[in-house]
Amino acid sequence: MKTLRTIAEVRAHVAAARRAGRSVGLVPTMGAFHAGHEALIRAARDACDDVVVSLFVNPSQFEEPADLAAYPRGEPRDAAIAAELGADALFAPPVAEIYPDGFATAVHVAGLSGVLEGAQRGAAHFDGVCTVVCKLFGIVAPDVAFFGQKDAQQVVVIRRMLRDLDIPVRLHVVPTVREADGLALSSRNARLDAADRERALALSRALEAVREGIEGGERDAAALEAAGRAAMAAYDVQPEYLSVVDPETLEPVELAAGRVLVVVAARIGPARLIDNLPLDTEQVATRTPVGVNHAKEI
Ligand code: AMP
Repeated sequence: MKTLRTIAEVRAHVAAARRAGRSVGLVPTMGAFHAGHEALIRAARDACDDVVVSLFVNPSQFEEPADLAAYPRGEPRDAAIAAELGADALFAPPVAEIYPDGFATAVHVAGLSGVLEGAQRGAAHFDGVCTVVCKLFGIVAPDVAFFGQKDAQQVVVIRRMLRDLDIPVRLHVVPTVREADGLALSSRNARLDAADRERALALSRALEAVREGIEGGERDAAALEAAGRAAMAAYDVQPEYLSVVDPETLEPVELAAGRVLVVVAARIGPARLIDNLPLDTEQVATRTPVGVNHAKEI
């Protein structure tokens, strides 16, 4: 696996792959790899001839300097994992390569960027995400980009951006990888002490409670959300939001009918955690259990 620092090096690498008729997959990451990132790299390895993993802790998507400073970094370990999983190139640029002096452009997806995570963190968060993803797509020009369902709103916002800007990249969404007890893997889990690690189960338990409600025939979103909140209260956790939303518009629904997305966020001690569960109320009898992975291409 090559480690590339400059845009010119990436362009040369991808041009050589293209000349050889190879398809190119991109896995954008901020590093500190866990099994969620590994699932993305494996999916890219399975689907594409040439796999580029980017490792860039993007300053413009952090609203709190302390959060950026505390973000875990460990390129040598990440590089070893990516190489072991068969990545062809690791693109790990310095900040100045991505944001040179005079950088003045931002990509803003109106509406979708302002709800849920955008409402809590500020819409600038998704502006930062979209701007860096747009740049990565311009630099690598992959056929397929791999993202995690864990960040469901990120996928919805990026899909809108691709459509609106006619960017010819397919999205491959990899299901959320979880610990055995249901906690979604996240780089931020490392900040939890033993007591907070237990309380963090509130998020996946809330999603389970909503699913059980739907399986039991409940369709009223307020009632489903109340069941989720009750499950969280058992862990002494109040959600920042817990909502049943339309999976494309992210607008809250009154009735859960057809495809819905259950989204939850909560602060657990020093960490702010998010989780979600896509559900199809028409398919509840044959639904996928939390923790079982099925990749889907969209
Ligand atoms: P990050 O490094 O946190 O920006 O994440 C890089 C990619 O990994 C994003 O597309 C995330 O959605 C994805 N990801 C993070 N956690 C998980 C997880 N538990 N399961 C699947 N994908 C994940």
